[in-house]
Amino acid sequence: MTVSARTIALIVAAGRGVRAGGRGPKQYRPLAGRAVLARTAEAFLDHAGIDGVRVVIHRDDDDLYEAALAPLRKHPKLMPPVHGGVERQDSVRLGLQSLAGAPPTLVLIHDAARPFVDAGTIGRVIEALARTPGAIAALPVHDTLKRAAGDGRRIDGTVERSGLWRAQTPQGFHFEAILKAHEAAAGRALTDDAAVAEAAGLDVALVPGAPDNMKITQAEDFGMAEILLTRRRSMFEFRTGQGFDVHQFEPGDAVILCGVAIPHAGKLKGHSDADAAMHALTDAVLGAISEGDIGDHFPPTDPKWRGAPSRIFLEKAMALVRDRGGDVVHCDITIICEAPKIKPHRTAMRAALAEIMGVSVERVSVKATTTEELGFTGRREGLAAMATATVRLPAPAE
Ligand code: MG
Repeated sequence: MTVSARTIALIVAAGRGVRAGGRGPKQYRPLAGRAVLARTAEAFLDHAGIDGVRVVIHRDDDDLYEAALAPLRKHPKLMPPVHGGVERQDSVRLGLQSLAGAPPTLVLIHDAARPFVDAGTIGRVIEALARTPGAIAALPVHDTLKRAAGDGRRIDGTVERSGLWRAQTPQGFHFEAILKAHEAAAGRALTDDAAVAEAAGLDVALVPGAPDNMKITQAEDFGMAEILLTRRRSMFEFRTGQGFDVHQFEPGDAVILCGVAIPHAGKLKGHSDADAAMHALTDAVLGAISEGDIGDHFPPTDPKWRGAPSRIFLEKAMALVRDRGGDVVHCDITIICEAPKIKPHRTAMRAALAEIMGVSVERVSVKATTTEELGFTGRREGLAAMATATVRLPAPAE
């Protein structure tokens, strides 16, 4: 994976989708309860190799976009949408130009109507860009290809299929090169972004795509997409981990909880920044993958972690989950204390955790309770936090 490169996913969603029938453009139609575009965007938002996601939409679709992406609205990687043009190629060019002010190193261009793009395909495209200025997901053609005669009803000939590939998306490029290529190709009708790159003389690599990475084009495709979704769900297993932590108050003027500093008549005592809520969450994530606890990975005896921000613990736990091809589906934290008041800080806490974990805010829940002035939390000697984390992992082979 390219470590330092800033990589943006540009999702093209400006089409009208007339072939798919139904009311409104197909990318906004629900697929098992969620808009196609939301599923597509989330595949990139959840990918560790993607730093930002921008969607190019039709100028009539502002409301449809807002409704479809509402659950992901606060995702730290989701950038505001931009309006596209008449043809797909115009939309891509406008999308690229919208990024030129703060140009990324790499850009992955993807069709909104391919919601089943998987992390492996995205990763292969990014990796190939370390060697070539362009790389696209594609599959070799296995069917025999026929060319039809003029009326489309009779065979005119058989097309040699060796060396033929079906182009999918994402199609990834070095940003400056593809921006220049698209600007040079304006007004010429080319079929995909690889064709634009080829016209500019850029080398474009083929990397294996995935058969499931289908494009929803016709109305019938929605039926196939629902079947794929059902099968995909059975390819994962879900595990839950729990965590619990307590820290004592000592003289100070603020506590740090879920990465947020809250003014208080005391601070939390501990080796790191003593963020009990983030420690409980980290242990929950580690628990879900049976990877011990924080202390195993960051021994408190090691002076290296003195005063450390707790985000490094949570980032480590998330890296271990993603190393297994997994992700955190949801987490729920309960902070137990009489004071400080947690509620006014909940939104900031959820946003901070979502950013650290690289997941959308809707996947993060933060709650608080008191113990009715009973026990050590009731006496305000310290506070406690508990957490659960639900992790999705690839199902083990049968
Ligand atoms: Mg702790």
